[in-house]
Amino acid sequence: MTITIDELAREASGCTKCRLAKSRTTVVFGSGDPSADLMFVGEAPGFHEDQQGLPFVGSAGQLLTQLLGRIGLAREQVYICNVLKCRPPGNRDPMPDEIESCQPYLLGQIELIDPRVICTLGNFSTQLLLGKKVGISRVRGQRFDYRGRALIPTYHPAAVLRGGGAETAMDQIEQDFRTIAKALETVPAAVAADPSEQLGLF
Ligand code: URA
Repeated sequence: MTITIDELAREASGCTKCRLAKSRTTVVFGSGDPSADLMFVGEAPGFHEDQQGLPFVGSAGQLLTQLLGRIGLAREQVYICNVLKCRPPGNRDPMPDEIESCQPYLLGQIELIDPRVICTLGNFSTQLLLGKKVGISRVRGQRFDYRGRALIPTYHPAAVLRGGGAETAMDQIEQDFRTIAKALETVPAAVAADPSEQLGLF
């Protein structure tokens, strides 16, 4: 017996594993194609995401949608989620214990969606999935292995917008999306994970 993505989402919807359960409006689990080849992992829901229960619906999300369009993909064709499923008050940075509490949901999403390519957006998701403290500007656009899948970090779209959409960062994120498109053409489907491992997560 293996848990489904809907069952995992239901479990997350009532989560009280960390302090964010008290301040959130809605758990933002993830959205998109549950069998997508490409998965994006952001940081945490912001104000609009918390209100609507959907990831990347604010201005950073609009940029993400545009960048996807430029490589011929619609949002519905990919899966989008975050490291944290609940909004940190005032959009502060995620705390280490919050990341730890929330991690089983993200790892479960990766196993169940089983994407061929994962794109981490910004420092938090990149450091979590690479398992090391690296700066995003040093690793962006490179291809790493994540359990047989390609992991390609890039800037967080909100950071690109905060920088005034500076030409270099915008050029770089566009370049990284082209790297993602190439990886989708060349990376084979991941070897199915052992279902007993999935069960062990929960
Ligand atoms: N920033 C994120 O990291 N995630 C969202 O869902 C929205 C903004």
